[in-house]
Amino acid sequence: MKIIDGKAISEKVRNEIKEQTQVYINKHGRKPGLAVIIAGDNPASKTYVANKIKACKEVGFNSYCIEFPKNVSEDTLTKKIIELNNNEDIDGILVQLPLPSHLNEKYILSLIADNKDVDGFSAYNMGLLALGRPKIAACTPLGVIELLKSTGESIEGKHAVIIGRSNIVGKPMAMLLLMENATVTICHSKTKNLSEITKTADILIAAIGKPCFVKKDMVKEDAIVIDVGINRTEKGLQGDVDFNEVSEIASYITPVPGGVGPMTITMLLKNTLTAAGL
Ligand code: NAD
Repeated sequence: MKIIDGKAISEKVRNEIKEQTQVYINKHGRKPGLAVIIAGDNPASKTYVANKIKACKEVGFNSYCIEFPKNVSEDTLTKKIIELNNNEDIDGILVQLPLPSHLNEKYILSLIADNKDVDGFSAYNMGLLALGRPKIAACTPLGVIELLKSTGESIEGKHAVIIGRSNIVGKPMAMLLLMENATVTICHSKTKNLSEITKTADILIAAIGKPCFVKKDMVKEDAIVIDVGINRTEKGLQGDVDFNEVSEIASYITPVPGGVGPMTITMLLKNTLTAAGL
């Protein structure tokens, strides 16, 4: 079994992005800019945003953290997003989720201009991805593809099983894997005989949100196992895969933390550079 070291792979890709950013600055005379909007004081969201801002600075982007109180109105957020859409210094706009419950998340996200939607969540960007010609795709699934490629194993023709059908992980993940010519199965909470399906996976991707959900008896010998889950438990951060058990049988596996997580921010940087027009 080999551990896929998301931290090391992420560092390598960030160094490449840093070099590309310098090329961009020399060519355009300006730095790429990312604006991150956060509303409320969810500690996990604050940490994610701080990490994103820090990562931007490290590769040479301008980054702006725009904070609003928990009771911010939809109107105030709307005005801010429209202002950022029209601001030429800003290439990417990201609204940290979840938003406070009085706000309509779908509506707020829909305000972000498609060419600045660096999370790749908009109907336009998801539509292009579904058509197999993405401009900006969701960061976490993009990171997973990089991790899979880092193993040197071919994705083509493999049976990839994804547990989870969310718009931010499961669905875009399936579309990216299809583009790599995998045979893709999506499982979800209503799937019957889940382990019978997961046991046929050459590549198993868990994006469920339930700690240690995937056990050894759900995994085929020598499968590549990617754990997207981030669950805050009394024992600390835990993935959706029971790492101790599953690592006995997998050929490759990602740890939590240090697997998919670092790649997500790295792909956000990549998407920002794409949005800036590298
Ligand atoms: P979500 O809650 O939107 O979706 C969870 C999915 O799991 C659903 O599609 C549901 O049908 C499926 N599911 C739930 N219970 C199931 C069961 N018993 N059997 C089969 N399927 C089941 O979650 P999400 O936003 O897709 O996130 C999933 C996990 O990935 C979470 O732990 C989240 O924190 C993590 N995540 C990590 C990153 C990262 O950067 N590493 C990014 C996004 C999400």
